[in-house]
Amino acid sequence: MIDTHATDLLEMPGDWQRALAVVAHPDDLEYGCAAAVADWTDAGKEVVYVLATRGEAGIDSLAPDVCGPLREREQRDSAAVVGVDRVEFLDHRDGVIEYGLGLRRDIAAAIRRHRPELVLTLNHRDTWGGGPGAPWNTPDHLAVGRATLDAAADAGNRWIFPELTEQGLEPWNGVRWVAVAASSTPTHAVDAGPGLDRAIRSLLCHRAYIEALTDQDPEEYVRSFLTAATGRASDRFGGRPAVTFELFAR
Ligand SMILES: [Zn+2]
Repeated sequence: MIDTHATDLLEMPGDWQRALAVVAHPDDLEYGCAAAVADWTDAGKEVVYVLATRGEAGIDSLAPDVCGPLREREQRDSAAVVGVDRVEFLDHRDGVIEYGLGLRRDIAAAIRRHRPELVLTLNHRDTWGGGPGAPWNTPDHLAVGRATLDAAADAGNRWIFPELTEQGLEPWNGVRWVAVAASSTPTHAVDAGPGLDRAIRSLLCHRAYIEALTDQDPEEYVRSFLTAATGRASDRFGGRPAVTFELFAR
């Protein structure tokens, strides 16, 4: 077994043009990897966001029918800060996303629509890492992360969801990697330095969510959170701040 804590993180592959990020909630990408996205769009790459829900169950003081549209707006604004102008929502229910064929089909359809070489998702593993007693992950993240890893293959197989072909979505077998952000067992990284200020502004767009989450000044909270998060793996990445990924090649 490889001791991942002792191994240096490798640079993420850069020889691709289109990425599709698939996550459960508004803010998942901003907490996870917006600095890397900023770096990629700077380099002329195209990144599209697909969210399984509108995060409508994410704020205790707001009813879902008010919260959903608000968080959708915040998500579109935060995507625009890092150069992403296409954001889609799959309309699964926040908090109770079910792993299964429906979710796999919806994600496979998105992969066929956008034909990415790189697919991104958020940590599908049980915990956020850090050994025994590490913070437990949420069922929505597990379901969407796992279904995204599966759908990367489903999208290329004409016979798994034939109804997608009938809808005009031809198979796409061009996904070369699935990269899992904030995994408990990362293997690769992107230098977070160049994109960090935009990542901070991007996460700050989720203002209603952050104001409900903490009494701290939102800007202070976001800056210290992302600085700490990107500093955590720097000893495995030549001292550079790192957005880490667990990379699955296909
Ligand atoms: Zn989430």
